Amino acid sequence: LLGPAGQLGVTIFEEMTTLAARTGAINLGQGFPDEDGPAEIKAAAMAAIESGANQYAPGKGLPELREAVAAHQARFYGLTPDPQTEVIVTTGATEAIAAALLAFVGPGDEVLTFEPFYDSYGAVIGLAGATHTTAPLLAPDFFPDMAALEAAFTDRTRVVLLNNPHNPTGAVFPRQVLQRVVELAEKFDCLIITDEVYEHLTFGASHLPVATLPGAAERTITISSAGKTFSFTGWKIGWLTGPEQLVAAVRTVKQFLTYSSGTPFQAAIATGLALPDEFFQGISATLQKKRDILSDGLRAAGFDVFTPQGTYFVNVDTAPLGIADAVDLARRLPALVGVAAIPVPVFCHPEGAARTRSLLRFAFCKKVEVLEEAAARLATLA
Ligand code: PMP
Ligand code: GLN
Repeated sequence: LLGPAGQLGVTIFEEMTTLAARTGAINLGQGFPDEDGPAEIKAAAMAAIESGANQYAPGKGLPELREAVAAHQARFYGLTPDPQTEVIVTTGATEAIAAALLAFVGPGDEVLTFEPFYDSYGAVIGLAGATHTTAPLLAPDFFPDMAALEAAFTDRTRVVLLNNPHNPTGAVFPRQVLQRVVELAEKFDCLIITDEVYEHLTFGASHLPVATLPGAAERTITISSAGKTFSFTGWKIGWLTGPEQLVAAVRTVKQFLTYSSGTPFQAAIATGLALPDEFFQGISATLQKKRDILSDGLRAAGFDVFTPQGTYFVNVDTAPLGIADAVDLARRLPALVGVAAIPVPVFCHPEGAARTRSLLRFAFCKKVEVLEEAAARLATLA
């Protein structure tokens, strides 16, 4: 009776957040900040509501937000999408991912992702009736096994779905890796859908959008979200850019998923995207301190820590503590020490789950005192 939904179940984020709430644990599972983003963006949302921006926005998004997305890409990356035809606003990156996949793939098509992969990728590929193929990312840096990546491309590969910076591993892929993916996409004539929601959350070199690489722009759809950059995950404002024909195809699908996205929040995020460079630089500086505080605590607790180069997630290996099964540990951890985390195997197919069996992901987008308290609690595990 349930059909495709029967295969999906409850997301790991909901499961772990519910468990954290029930046990009163510090929630370092689901990735959301415990402080709001800039006050001026909140004020802009409230002003938009007061001014009557409360009915449907145009399906492709408010003009001021599409223009702000284009201006942001020009400012940071030298990209020049046409706000009229090459940008659409979506209900979070989640809808952008779903609309893009549903627009381009169906039964008989393969969608290639890295593994581990963000959970909605597998779900939507399944809902589209397509086949999900993967190429493993390998510890400690979580770069792809290049031979496996090359071997994973086939004549049926229709889309390569990238995510950089990468959730859950925190990897930021080097230019050569991304360029090789573009070459393979050209060789096998497939589209690139690239999820770059953590574009401003990097700790080393600045972000390198796939669309800027030689040969990429004509076959690449780029996705981002205000949730991560501005710490308003509950507003669910995302966007997608790419060549006109591809964006038009995605928009056709978006019409029937949500039609349009929250009007006053779009107006507010247009203000956010125009903030000065210092705001964007400040995001990663603040996060990097938090990364280091939690990483030190996790190391002191006895875990092997894989230092992330981007995102707000840090992965650890639980094996040094004599714990082999991270899924089991994640279910017990909230009651055991009062901290919730996400097991990495849930972002994998069975083979990848075996490879990542003892890995656990912690979110560090939390107040310093919360991270310190979590570290103190985790220290009692050993
Ligand atoms: N892609 C990745 C890699 C993510 O981590 C997230 C946020 N968890 C999303 C997409 C979804 O973004 P949004 O909340 O804007 O829908
Ligand atoms: N993207 C967030 C994470 O990876 C959570 C998103 C969600 O709850 N769907 O933790």
